[in-house]
Amino acid sequence: MLSDQELLRYSRQILLSQVDIDGQLRLKQAKALIVGLGGLGSPVALYLAAAGVGELHLADFDTVDLTNLQRQVIHDNASVGMSKVDSALQRLRAINPEVKLVAHRHALDQDSLAATVAAVDLVLDCSDNFGTREAVNAACMAGGRPLVSGAAIRLEGQLTVFDPRRDYSPCYHCLYGHGSEAELTCSEAGVLGPLVGLVGSLQALEALKLLAGFGEPLVGRLLLIDALGTRLRELRVKRDPACPVCGSLHE
Ligand SMILES: [Zn+2]
Repeated sequence: MLSDQELLRYSRQILLSQVDIDGQLRLKQAKALIVGLGGLGSPVALYLAAAGVGELHLADFDTVDLTNLQRQVIHDNASVGMSKVDSALQRLRAINPEVKLVAHRHALDQDSLAATVAAVDLVLDCSDNFGTREAVNAACMAGGRPLVSGAAIRLEGQLTVFDPRRDYSPCYHCLYGHGSEAELTCSEAGVLGPLVGLVGSLQALEALKLLAGFGEPLVGRLLLIDALGTRLRELRVKRDPACPVCGSLHE
């Protein structure tokens, strides 16, 4: 059931025939894990909390630094030095007290990651390094949970959804497991705030579609964003049948 306050709060999205009251109820019952509360995780957490996703798990072991504020819009000047999870909790509670927030302030090891993934319906990878991305992907594939994956560096962004429930879906390792390129981080290569904001907003959009159950998710498709020319391109991506992470899921 939705209260009068909830019907009012979410009225603009309930108006959409694709969402309606049933979709809003599905969002209220949904649980999502957000890995990383930086440039991507900021818009993801803000939009999912505002949209009324019932339970959000927030994972980050870092603290807010002055160099984060140019793009990590969930944090502010007063939260410099604070844990990113606590800073985000404050802001999200202020936006929507209806949402249950679960804090994960320490790095998740393999067991705690598996347990947390099992406790949610969907995972958003908003991290910034290969090791975390591989670990989150492996946990999602083993746990049968869809993974909304986004990345941005310099003036380029990427977005896709890995869904082990769908036969044709590749996983992160199918696409990136061969280590084609040396790992770059924003601290070395630079990035623009609105670009990570765009990728994070699209991740939130994909998550809402999957959780409320409407639209066509970005599975088997890789969206490439060129901020310099303001161009979006889409590539078909395929599952690697020999992938050591997801290959055995589909036998
Ligand atoms: Zn794979």
